[in-house]
Amino acid sequence: MKKRHIAILGATGSIGTQTLDVVRQHPDLFEVDLLTAGSNADLLITEAREFDPAAVVICNEVKFDQVREALRDTDVKVFTGTQSMCDLVAAETVDIVVAAMVGFSGLRPTVAALKAGKAVALANKETLVAAGDLVMDLSRTHHAPILPVDSEHSAIFQCLLAAGDNPVEKIHLTASGGPFRTWPRERIALASKTDALKHPNWSMGAKITIDSATMMNKGFEVIEACWLFEKAPEDIHVVVHPESVIHSMIEFADGAVLAQLGCPDMRVPIQFALAFPERLPLKGEKLDFAKTGRLTFEEPDRTKFPCLSLAFEAVGRGGNIPCALNAANEVAVKAFLEDRIGFYDIPDIIGKIMAQTPYIAKPSLEDIFETNDAAYAAAERMI
Ligand code: NAD
Ligand code: MG
Repeated sequence: MKKRHIAILGATGSIGTQTLDVVRQHPDLFEVDLLTAGSNADLLITEAREFDPAAVVICNEVKFDQVREALRDTDVKVFTGTQSMCDLVAAETVDIVVAAMVGFSGLRPTVAALKAGKAVALANKETLVAAGDLVMDLSRTHHAPILPVDSEHSAIFQCLLAAGDNPVEKIHLTASGGPFRTWPRERIALASKTDALKHPNWSMGAKITIDSATMMNKGFEVIEACWLFEKAPEDIHVVVHPESVIHSMIEFADGAVLAQLGCPDMRVPIQFALAFPERLPLKGEKLDFAKTGRLTFEEPDRTKFPCLSLAFEAVGRGGNIPCALNAANEVAVKAFLEDRIGFYDIPDIIGKIMAQTPYIAKPSLEDIFETNDAAYAAAERMI
């Protein structure tokens, strides 16, 4: 494999730091050109000193001077603001852009990367939830491949490579069920953020961890799968699989099912996206089937996890409604993390915002930004 130059957006987060761990294991194959962060200046500085990128972007302007001063004795160029991130991902030397920022903030730079014809290793699922139609269209028009980093979508992608030209009837999207899988609804209603932040199998950023507790994360992944694999929502079956060993499955017309398995380690899908189509060695835990013992499955409980139904409703209605779903969820999760609302206020707020959002069947990118801003503001007023 020829050395690949990568830009990592959201380099200080859970996915960003694990991406750098993959780079650390293969210094001869990957070179970091760009690192960006929201506000975590200290970690961005440490990473820049280790990986010596051409440039870094600290999005929070307040932290700009700190980063510039700390890297003054290096060749690393320091920028701030979303626009500089959009300009830098388009640089000639960049081969792959890892989109690993959290939330709607990922949309603008991902669009910029696709327009520049860059391969995008996509972790930032909110981009596809909010603007899947437009994003997939840009990927096709600019011959810019989107390589899934989300473990379920990477699993489906890996299974599809074995499917050849045979049509896939159904996708089985596995879900851990989150920390509240076995809790009764009355107890979940009183759950605190500390309870919700205890994910049983994965260590992730705070927002996606809450999304996993409400199962909105799985709802988002249904929408993400619809766009990535050109499937209707009714062809996607969510199944709870608490061990998180099967990362997802595809089913053919004859009933045969292909699955991708492995230890829950995000570096596997990250590395697969970065090195595609090659497979590289990776240091880490490997599956021990006898130790795993048993794999179990159950239906998700939609009365306990109404966010899952809200996501199906949003993708069913289409247009700008998934964008409103995403914006309302972003505001509600933030408020829950600040102890301002209860757990079931999250789906309540989202449902109300979806119902009051003026429907646009074929939104432009501008419509998407307007829908996001309006839904965001309305959700904040409601809280
Ligand atoms: P995180 O909160 O740990 O990290 C987010 C990163 O984005 C940080 O570097 C942060 O500085 C940056 N950031 C935050 N707000 C920003 C803004 N407004 N502008 C620019 N940068 C900003 O999140 P994470 O867990 O790494 O998740 C990142 C994305 O990957 C999310 O979309 C999540 O759904 C998806 N994802 C994560 C995992 C996982 O295991 N963590 C798995 C699958 C998908
Ligand atoms: Mg996932």
